[in-house]
Amino acid sequence: MSEQLDQDVRINLLDMDVEKIKSWCAQHGEKPFRAIQLARWMHRFLVDDFDQMTNLAKSFRAKLKDLAYIKAPSPITEKKSADGTRKWLFDVGNGNAVESVFIPEDDRGTLCISTQAGCPMGCLFCSTGKQGFNRNLATSEIVGQLWYAERELRQEAGITDPNDRIISNVVLMGMGEPLQNLDNVIPALKLFLDDNGYGLSRRRVTVSTSGLVNQMDKLGEAAPVALAVSLHAPDDALRDKLMPVNRKHPLGQLMAACRRYLKVAPRDFITFEYLLLGGVNDDPEQARELIRLVRDVPCKFNLIPFNPFPDSGLSKPERQRVLDFARILNEAGIVTTVRKTRGDDIDAACGQLAGEVKDRTRRAQRLVLQKEQARDVFAGKGESCARGDFHE
Ligand code: SAH
Ligand code: SF4
Repeated sequence: MSEQLDQDVRINLLDMDVEKIKSWCAQHGEKPFRAIQLARWMHRFLVDDFDQMTNLAKSFRAKLKDLAYIKAPSPITEKKSADGTRKWLFDVGNGNAVESVFIPEDDRGTLCISTQAGCPMGCLFCSTGKQGFNRNLATSEIVGQLWYAERELRQEAGITDPNDRIISNVVLMGMGEPLQNLDNVIPALKLFLDDNGYGLSRRRVTVSTSGLVNQMDKLGEAAPVALAVSLHAPDDALRDKLMPVNRKHPLGQLMAACRRYLKVAPRDFITFEYLLLGGVNDDPEQARELIRLVRDVPCKFNLIPFNPFPDSGLSKPERQRVLDFARILNEAGIVTTVRKTRGDDIDAACGQLAGEVKDRTRRAQRLVLQKEQARDVFAGKGESCARGDFHE
């Protein structure tokens, strides 16, 4: 068989969760404990070379080489910020690239992962959304971001003990809408949680959504990890303008979906992310409206001052408005934090992850129109970049 044909028929084992590895091994005459050994080599020891899997029989290793391979996306660039934040740009083929960001803190290390090349949701304030959409990432491309980052960070720190993890938290808050890609996201989440995978607790894995209510229910059934919901407006009229998803699933539906999710969530609250745009949604009265909106949903708020990007047509909020907004929510008994700005020397902030996307939705071609629309609607003005990260 030629090398080329070989490549075509072999499968990438990073596409499978542990259950699937077991059934695949069974198909090839291997017992479940062999599948577990294989999963542990891949996801705990972060090995991609079958020859290093020394406790597997030589015959099994030969079979694996014939039938499969282990491949994470390849990094194109890696940037290190002065504050320790790291950003990798990964090649996902056909001219597309996605980004992952590692944020080290005293008590944890968080990796922010992408789930789509671009994003079809079209939020007005988001540079990923403005790039348009190419495709969903495969499970191997989602898991591969964690696999690669953990391996790289461990090698650098000289860590060999597989239980000694550098990445303790994963957030699906990079490029894309994770709930639009559930078929590939759910196996990835299962691997993050599996003791024979990355062994993270459900509280340490967070999915962020713009508010796809049916898929929130599906996530709750299949892999109920911590949930963050991007709210960004206290009323439907404004949210319709900022986030097209709201026209399909307005706030009433979204709040009901949050209440349903809380029944299965690993925490007893939903995190609402609230992007603050100067002069658009940062008024004290809007904070009071929010309190009324979420009165039946146990929640915490994470306020994200807008990270501007060129030609966004929108502005950062004034510092005092951010503090006042947080104070009003806190005084109403809703725990509220403001997302810190980090990694600002390497373009690593929320909504600024751009990668390279071959747009298939012609959204990028509508960019000029959208920019004018933003200016008309909000009379804002663009500024140069600043970054933020995720803190819960
Ligand atoms: N698609 C998902 C997850 C990725 S976006 C979602 O929308 O929730 C992650 C977070 O970054 C969201 O809360 C999003 O609204 C926010 N974000 C987008 N653009 C931003 C910007 N320019 N500045 C700050 N945060 C932004
Ligand atoms: Fe997509 Fe989230 Fe950006 Fe909206 S904010 S365009 S859903 S990545």
